[in-house]
Amino acid sequence: MKKILNYINGELVGPKSGQYLDNYNPSIGKVYSLIPNSDADDVQRAQEAAQAAFPEWSVTPKDERSRILMKLADLIDANLDMLAKAESVDNGKPVSLAKSVDIPRAASNFRFYATAVVQYSTHAHEMEDTAINYTLRQPIGVAGCISPWNLPLYLFSWKIAPALASGNCVVAKPSEVTPMTAYLLSKLCIEAGLPNGVLNIVHGLGPKVGQAITEHPDIPMISFTGGTVTGKHIASIAAPMFKKLSLELGGKNPNIIFADCDFDKMLSTTIRSSFANQGQICLCGSRIFIERPIYEKFKTAFVEKVSRMKVGNPADDTTKMGAIVSQSHMEKVLSYVDLAKDEGGTVLTGGNQALVDGECAEGWFIHPTIIEGLSFDCRTNQEEIFGPVVTIMPFDTEEEVLMMANSTKYGLASTVWTENLKKAHRMARNLHAGIVWINCWLLRDLRTPFGGAKQSGVGREGGFEALEFFTEPKNVCIKY
Ligand code: NAP
Repeated sequence: MKKILNYINGELVGPKSGQYLDNYNPSIGKVYSLIPNSDADDVQRAQEAAQAAFPEWSVTPKDERSRILMKLADLIDANLDMLAKAESVDNGKPVSLAKSVDIPRAASNFRFYATAVVQYSTHAHEMEDTAINYTLRQPIGVAGCISPWNLPLYLFSWKIAPALASGNCVVAKPSEVTPMTAYLLSKLCIEAGLPNGVLNIVHGLGPKVGQAITEHPDIPMISFTGGTVTGKHIASIAAPMFKKLSLELGGKNPNIIFADCDFDKMLSTTIRSSFANQGQICLCGSRIFIERPIYEKFKTAFVEKVSRMKVGNPADDTTKMGAIVSQSHMEKVLSYVDLAKDEGGTVLTGGNQALVDGECAEGWFIHPTIIEGLSFDCRTNQEEIFGPVVTIMPFDTEEEVLMMANSTKYGLASTVWTENLKKAHRMARNLHAGIVWINCWLLRDLRTPFGGAKQSGVGREGGFEALEFFTEPKNVCIKY
């Protein structure tokens, strides 16, 4: 059985304990590789390697850091097919999605920060003829980066790239559920000539490896993407240690459809924003609010198209919906469908496990599911399901839909469909969310601030904001 290895001090090594965990292919429901069951000893080794590499990496000229990260991006591009296949097998997502979104975006993340760091400049504040202040932004040391399973290499690289570009060294933990592409990335780092110890990847369980990174006294910053409950736990450890903390957490995003929208564009994008990656994207719009005059038209067209979506083998290019990432996650998602029924909802399509023929017969699939008839404040409409399940609800006024849209504890993203520019601006101003998409979804300019309000997160990633997170500002005041 293929063994994944940790990447510590430039070498691919097993865990000190010699113990491994099973790694499943969710589309066939079987173990296909083994992953290090690392612990605090492995994190310690990784931290020491990163600490030792820091003095040299932090003063390596930006151009040289940029060159290495560009090379890494080129290697990701050159290995697109191999990485996309690996991501699809590990996560269950359609290979076509991994090939068009996940892997190209991982290369873009490295390329973006390789160029951003050489463009970045700091501020100067002049006090007329008294003095001048200028701000230095210096790398901090060893960064801890912890990422989830839904967009494995995409989100892993979104943290690592700015951390490394700005001169820090990194101890990183990908999700134990989807470790493969981070392992393949470590091989590409060796090929790209990344100096030993600059990036260290420790595989294993969140409560062991993630916990050890969070608790480590010499890892002064933690960049975390994952669930709100885990984020709260991490904050409870990191905050009293005065660590810098970036938290990208869960969402329960509204998709608000006004009667004056471009119906066809809205419909095709709404299918994507509901079910892309089996609904396992933190930005998916899982609560769909439709202005009453077009509610029935929307419902009929949406149900008709969604019920024809092909759920199947992720390796097949015609598959629209692949497997759910794990058996336990599939069971959790289906338990929410039961909850929705208990709460008075009607399942219009889907609602059950999908059985796929052939080699995927034992895989974990769910039919895309649409539910109506629920109140905006029931648990199904307030809690994150993170699967291919959406609810539809009619509304009558802007005030009413804003109240319902803003009613959850989350505030990550929102989508608004209208051809009325004034209304679009009003909605954008009044939605409690870090991101508002008007007449589009998941359109990303990497320079923009990315993150959530309320319990969807603390801080922003993206653009220069990430370079600022991974550096310490220092004001220097010189008297004339
Ligand atoms: P998760 O269970 O919170 O796990 C995220 C990461 O944290 C994983 O690497 C996990 O390791 C690790 N972890 C678990 N317990 C830990 C602990 N005690 N200390 C330190 N690390 C720990 O989230 P997930 O189920 O992987 O991902 C789904 C969630 O992520 C959803 O809520 C989704 O909305 C959110 N998400 C947010 C964004 C965003 O940008 N806001 C993007 C994507 C996903 P193991 O996997 O090994 O347990």
